[in-house]
Amino acid sequence: MAEHGLSRRGLLSGAAAGGAILAIGGIGETAEAATTSGSLPASVDAVVVGGGLSGLVAARNLVKAGNSVLVLEARNRVGGRLLNHTLKGGSVIESGGAFVGPTQNHVLALAKELKVKTFKEYVTGDNVYVSKTLGTLKYTGTVPPDPLILADAAILQLRIDDMASKVPVDAPWSAPDAANLDATTVDSWLRQNTLIPQVREVLKAFFQAAFGTDAEGISMLFFLWYMATAGDETHPGTFERASGTADAAQDSRFVGGSDLLPLRIASALGSRVALNAPVRKIKQTSTGVTVVSDRGTVKARRVIVAVPPPLALGIDWSPLLPPRRLQLLQHMPMGTLMKVDAVYAKPFWRAKGLSGSATFDDGVVRTMFDNCPADAKVGVLLAFIGGSSWQRCAMLPLAERRKLVLAAFAKAVGPEALNPIEYVEHDWTHERWTMGSPVASVQPGATVAYGSTIRQPHGRVHWAGTETSTYWAGYMDGAVRAGERAAAEVAKHL
Ligand SMILES: Cc1cc2nc3c(=O)[nH]c(=O)nc-3n(C[C@H](O)[C@H](O)[C@H](O)COP(=O)(O)OP(=O)(O)OC[C@H]3O[C@@H](n4cnc5c(N)ncnc54)[C@H](O)[C@@H]3O)c2cc1C
Repeated sequence: MAEHGLSRRGLLSGAAAGGAILAIGGIGETAEAATTSGSLPASVDAVVVGGGLSGLVAARNLVKAGNSVLVLEARNRVGGRLLNHTLKGGSVIESGGAFVGPTQNHVLALAKELKVKTFKEYVTGDNVYVSKTLGTLKYTGTVPPDPLILADAAILQLRIDDMASKVPVDAPWSAPDAANLDATTVDSWLRQNTLIPQVREVLKAFFQAAFGTDAEGISMLFFLWYMATAGDETHPGTFERASGTADAAQDSRFVGGSDLLPLRIASALGSRVALNAPVRKIKQTSTGVTVVSDRGTVKARRVIVAVPPPLALGIDWSPLLPPRRLQLLQHMPMGTLMKVDAVYAKPFWRAKGLSGSATFDDGVVRTMFDNCPADAKVGVLLAFIGGSSWQRCAMLPLAERRKLVLAAFAKAVGPEALNPIEYVEHDWTHERWTMGSPVASVQPGATVAYGSTIRQPHGRVHWAGTETSTYWAGYMDGAVRAGERAAAEVAKHL
């Protein structure tokens, strides 16, 4: 793909005729798939709104249980926040979610079933810390070698894990001192609980990539809950597991790209997936639910809504959602995040003994990863630009932003980084059906005030989507778990 601001994959090929099943021309993948036009069934047992990973998993489970299901997906593709991107040479990278790691058992089990393999993120060699004051320093492990942050970092990690251990993953609003923690932003807590401000600069690398916002934008309660969810039923969540690479959330990636998961589920669901079908209205009566989409109207006994939280506000609800639910959705904005990849003929940094992983304490790039495909046929460096860094550079002309990004890469791994053979950006704030990324965060005060409505069904309407998960919320694993949970809720009623 030529240099551009927004990458898009042509997922479906061929002309749609009367709801015919089309062939997906996915990345390295050909499959029978969804309909893009034509009539929809008049009624089904369950309608799933949203064909991201969560909605598709919900549909898959309901079909397995013998129910008739229709997935209504607004875009002309499935996958939502998962999106493969094919480089000029044919290698595949991800523009959306990519990394998986231990305790993300549900997405890993799904991948195994769908025969999508994982490979380890490259971590051999030194990481690099690029500091405004110290210059470029090599290091191993997880904490950058900045004397100004070392004392704070060790204590912070222990305190965060200890505080997170007291936050129930299914009811953070009931944690000890919940109201105070929810009224305190992470930034103000850090100001009160760290000795030297430098640690806040370094932590931006994590907040901007993980939430698409800075520490000012989220409450301590929401953050601690998020850390508590970075685990499973037998492994309590920790900051290290959420933020680390090897043996943590960034441990591995999927061979062929994470998009293979939704593509393969959709392929098996076939014409049960209707694309180009944004849902506009959901009307409930005592006998059922009527779902109005651009492709037509379908009656269902139950509905699962699996869209990013703010997107549910765009649906015309009858009856209206309960007031606390409406407030929750209004207090869950999507983050701002752009994924940027620079492609090189080979991963030259590996030959220099560098892992390709870097943390920056200044500038628009705060975190960088080696993002080579499994066969490392080409070298790829990845930057997340989120939160205040996104605000600083997203509106710049592409050429200026590219210069800033490549200069940062060059500081970390050498001047070869200045001349990529390809440069790819994907800014999720441009996406009508996502409106930001990577996740919706609950704003300060709102977890305690409205959080308990997060999974509460609205009559015959149930909620999926990664943000409703009790483990790995915001991640692919959370999306799978939420889809499974919502399907189980609905199956009980069908
Ligand atoms: C840049 C980026 C990096 C990420 N990195 C990682 C990572 O490394 N590891 C990880 O685990 N996760 C990562 N994530 C998060 C991960 O991608 C998501 O958690 C997951 O894909 C969410 O799935 P979902 O089904 O809940 O939501 P979505 O993928 O958002 O799916 C929702 C679907 O609903 C559709 N929709 C919206 N409104 C309507 C409507 N009115 N009618 C019909 N359809 C509608 C949308 O088009 C979309 O297809 C990242 C995300 C991004 C964007």
